[in-house]
Amino acid sequence: MRIARINVNTKSIEYEEITQKSKFFLLGARGLSSKIILDEVPPDCDPLGEKNKLIIANGLLAGSPFPCSARTSVGAKSPLTNGIKEANVGGRPALMLSQHGIRALVFDDISSELIYIMIKDGTLSIQSAEEYRGLGNYELHSKLLIEYGKGIGIYSIGPAGEFLMKAASVAANDMEGYPSRHAGRGGLGAVMGSKGIKAIVILPKKGSEVKIHDLKSFTKVSKPFAKLLAESKEGFSTYGTAMAMKVMSEYGGLPTKNYRMGSYEKVHDISGEKLHEVIMSRGGKKRLACSPTCVIKCSNFYVDTNGKHITSSLEYETMALCGSNLMIEDMDDLANIDHLCDDIGIDTIEFGVTIGVAMDSGEIDWGNAKKTFEILEEIRHGSEIGQLYGNGVCHVGREFNHERIPHVKGQGLSGYDPRVFKGIGLTYATSPMGADHTAGCAIAGRVASKTKDYGALTENNGKFDLSFELQLYTTILDSMGCCYFIGPSFENMELISGALNAMYDLKLTRDDIIKSGIDILKNELEFNINAGMGNETNEIPSFFRNEPSIPTDLTYTFLSEDLKGFWKRLENK
Ligand code: SF4
Repeated sequence: MRIARINVNTKSIEYEEITQKSKFFLLGARGLSSKIILDEVPPDCDPLGEKNKLIIANGLLAGSPFPCSARTSVGAKSPLTNGIKEANVGGRPALMLSQHGIRALVFDDISSELIYIMIKDGTLSIQSAEEYRGLGNYELHSKLLIEYGKGIGIYSIGPAGEFLMKAASVAANDMEGYPSRHAGRGGLGAVMGSKGIKAIVILPKKGSEVKIHDLKSFTKVSKPFAKLLAESKEGFSTYGTAMAMKVMSEYGGLPTKNYRMGSYEKVHDISGEKLHEVIMSRGGKKRLACSPTCVIKCSNFYVDTNGKHITSSLEYETMALCGSNLMIEDMDDLANIDHLCDDIGIDTIEFGVTIGVAMDSGEIDWGNAKKTFEILEEIRHGSEIGQLYGNGVCHVGREFNHERIPHVKGQGLSGYDPRVFKGIGLTYATSPMGADHTAGCAIAGRVASKTKDYGALTENNGKFDLSFELQLYTTILDSMGCCYFIGPSFENMELISGALNAMYDLKLTRDDIIKSGIDILKNELEFNINAGMGNETNEIPSFFRNEPSIPTDLTYTFLSEDLKGFWKRLENK
């Protein structure tokens, strides 16, 4: 496996072999990205300047049949948080990169010239992308598919990335060929835009450079696990992440009206069950894999009344932040918001939280979907209004002088009320990634070990252990390129060690795997401290402490000093 290093200014391309002696050996996806950022990116640099690097990396299990192992990590210093950032995404390209023998692409410097990268037979070339300037992801992808064939993998940015907007995402094409999968969080699309990269196109390759040392042993680990996942996630496969809408509302933890409430009276209109009904009645699709090797298949394909594709996949966080959070109750409106965000290349979570603050401050009426569409078109064109709304929730909150800004470290909260779901409330406050549910999603039904009691969901008891352990195990899954729906648990770390041993001819123990996760977290925390984003920034907005959530009457009650001391548990490890 190799790392390809591309200087977008000088147009030089160098390849670095990852050998057993390399410091990057046994680092993949998030772990590799975070190590490169710590070692090579000056922590005080401008995230959109020449010193930042953009890393696109697949995981250590990419290219293998291990279930749900074909995700991409996108990493950089974040323009949104100013700290280290990794956002991962499904889609086709990660597996294809590994087939070309590429573990990571590392982009250096900046360029005002718009380019795209072509990967063919394991070799990169740089092409002009001026003809694609300003295109939305949908038009861009359809042009590239016509040019290079249906089997290509694509990473790309939309106009928001080109305009360097801090909520911009990086798109990847899904299994059906649409640019619907997004590394949304942290504004990494803006970093890609600062480097002038409109797209990365990966041509299909005959055969694969991925080698599995002992396929028999590998299969012994991965096959029963795949079967278990497929069987045990039946309901999740049918209803997808949207099934959480009603559950979260019943708990009183569904963001509603910019986190003024936790239950939405019209949740039935935008629930997972309703989504299922609409999709099935119109001839859409359910139970889709967003990337190769996925056996859980939680994705969907949403169509209009004529059966025409609108978006894929409509997910819980989009429905929560752009639905109940904005009091928008029409499923088609949500599907169209999702489509536009994907096309323009903007994070649906950050966008929903941003509009929520604008509505809360009286700038836009609650539930005004039409205005939301207009704002998205302003973002597409990079207008003054577009710049106002495309740069994240803190930017809009400052402009409107609004006090209730649901963010941590500059990044909008995803779809779970931290007053109610105590574990994820800790993850939001302490993760090196800012408020990010994927960093350690301690919500209903999620435990880090089958044999441990982490206390009731809405009580503080046990949540320091739960959040810490989920953050640790999720870091490891992220570094394998695995979807966190396979379960960031102590038990599954044993499976990971078994798979790595069979693949790379190693003798790793579960403890070794856990230690590797600890090292990655330490790298990320060290970068953040050097970037001025140390433990003192582990805090939640004060309104969560002062305003009881309706209807639960719960407030955020973890002590500030405990949040600041959260990572002390990494000392001596
Ligand atoms: S479980 Fe869902 S999100 Fe995870 S890889 Fe499969 S389809 Fe994608």
